[in-house]
Amino acid sequence: MTDAKKELEVGRKFFSTECTFMLGVADLKQLPITNIPEIALTGRSNVGKSRLVNALTGRKAIARTSVTPGRTQQLNFFNLGNRLLIVDLPGYGYANAPKPEVAAWTQLVRQYLVGRAQLRRVCMLVDIRHGLKDNDRKIMKELDQAAVSYQIVLTKADKISPIQREKAAEKVLKEANKHVAAHPKIVTTSSVKGLGISELRADLSQLAINH
Ligand code: GDP
Repeated sequence: MTDAKKELEVGRKFFSTECTFMLGVADLKQLPITNIPEIALTGRSNVGKSRLVNALTGRKAIARTSVTPGRTQQLNFFNLGNRLLIVDLPGYGYANAPKPEVAAWTQLVRQYLVGRAQLRRVCMLVDIRHGLKDNDRKIMKELDQAAVSYQIVLTKADKISPIQREKAAEKVLKEANKHVAAHPKIVTTSSVKGLGISELRADLSQLAINH
């Protein structure tokens, strides 16, 4: 078996354990005290974050899809066999979100991102059809400044052709490479078709295992 195949197999096994919802955090004081490694997912609203969490963990509806903005203002922690915590961060860029809610979101998420020692990586989800937008860039800049390592994960790849996918990925990668805290590799996924899910599992399990 090649090293890449071995890593895929390790990822498959790692993610085959039961994943359970642990808690929703609306205030920093509620953050769980653990030393389990964490990865966090963020992205613009409707990017496909809930579906990706479901696809990664192999559960049908562990993360609710398309909930209304008011109900998504918390950090949702999922526990994968006490070996990895997956943190579903609130989406950003809601067209209709009330301003105070957005401000509270920003505060809570920022404080979590800069202060969490066990956070191994942030997966920044980007809809492959839309590419990077200014609100993504703003967050990337902040992560650069806080030296929080992040990886861009392209979503909904099934919506465009393989050639368009490659072009879109290349464009995003070119820009990501200019950011100091961005991972040099991006992953193209489709939660609907299962594309890129094994690769992402492999990458994320390596982060948890090699800590
Ligand atoms: P969230 O707001 O980022 O959590 O996004 P959701 O996971 O709720 O997805 C938003 C919408 O995009 C829903 O209608 C999903 O069914 C759809 N969606 C999510 N992932 C994919 C995908 O990989 N392919 C396609 N075609 N649709 C997707």
